[in-house]
Amino acid sequence: MISLVYSPDYALHQTGTHPENQGRLDIMMEYLTREFGELTPEGGEIDIHPPTPASEEDLRQVHTPSHLEHLKNFAENGGGYLDYDTYESPQSYEIAKIAAGGAITACELVLGGHDFSYSLARPPGHHATSDKAMGFCLINNLAVALEYLRKNHDLEKFLILDFDAHYGNGTAEIFYQDPHVLYISIHQDPHTIFPGKGFVEETGMGLGQGFNLNLPVSPGSGTSDYIYLLEKIMEPVIKQFQADFYFLDVGFDSHQEDPLSHLQLDDDFYPWIASYMRELASQMVLILEGGYSRDAMARSNLKMINVLRNKISPEEEWQPPGKLVVKEETKALFKEVQNRFSPYFTF
Ligand SMILES: [Zn+2]
Repeated sequence: MISLVYSPDYALHQTGTHPENQGRLDIMMEYLTREFGELTPEGGEIDIHPPTPASEEDLRQVHTPSHLEHLKNFAENGGGYLDYDTYESPQSYEIAKIAAGGAITACELVLGGHDFSYSLARPPGHHATSDKAMGFCLINNLAVALEYLRKNHDLEKFLILDFDAHYGNGTAEIFYQDPHVLYISIHQDPHTIFPGKGFVEETGMGLGQGFNLNLPVSPGSGTSDYIYLLEKIMEPVIKQFQADFYFLDVGFDSHQEDPLSHLQLDDDFYPWIASYMRELASQMVLILEGGYSRDAMARSNLKMINVLRNKISPEEEWQPPGKLVVKEETKALFKEVQNRFSPYFTF
């Protein structure tokens, strides 16, 4: 069973012609309602739940008081650009609290017995650090939900797999010294894309050493490269780590039609990763990050959800991609990761 967490209020984070705008969620919801009809709580083929906004206390488990104060005041004073690409409108702070709360609500649904729960929210979160908004992100939604779980439930070990085209530097930094959070990110080589971090040698610090695993793929890498790396690395690492709780951090900007990256994933990748993770983690929370080609993201999202519903009708049956064509750089990257992480994991 998969449930969605969504609020129409996300439209009140008004970013105009910015690539991260409400049109992204609107088209995703349009595809979903076309497929499943009206989405209602505990209703038809797929149910939908409103998010409960995160409390200030929830936010303070991750973010500094000065960061939260700055976001709040900046928005209340009319908003504008916080940096060269991160925008707040007058209601953005309140909406960011709903987006963070959406991640918490999704976690509660999974703990309440749903196999999968998916927070379709904006603004996204994975670039936001404890004290800085950046990369379209204000509050780190996933980190807030994770700290909420740690505080309110008897859970110790968390796994995050982030396949957004960009490195989730905020999430990585927040948990960089934490051996109980394994952050795995596959993203475009940061020499060639924002945020310029996320190299293999960034492995974590102190007790967290070995728990930050980066797979920076070269521009032009596609579905074969992703499947090759994730099969060779993800499966052994996930099995050895034995998390109590799983997050899939979802970014559709890794799609070949996306205007903000130079990756070549096709529609097959998203159902593949969903089915792969479904086998490794019987329960999982999905959290939306980027994706800027509206049609590609709405299409891929629907296919991914159909796999997690475990009900693929014959006409939309998805077959895993056939023979993999893997770039030499990708094979070299596997060797590099294998060497660097051999003290921590067996591949
Ligand atoms: Zn991204």
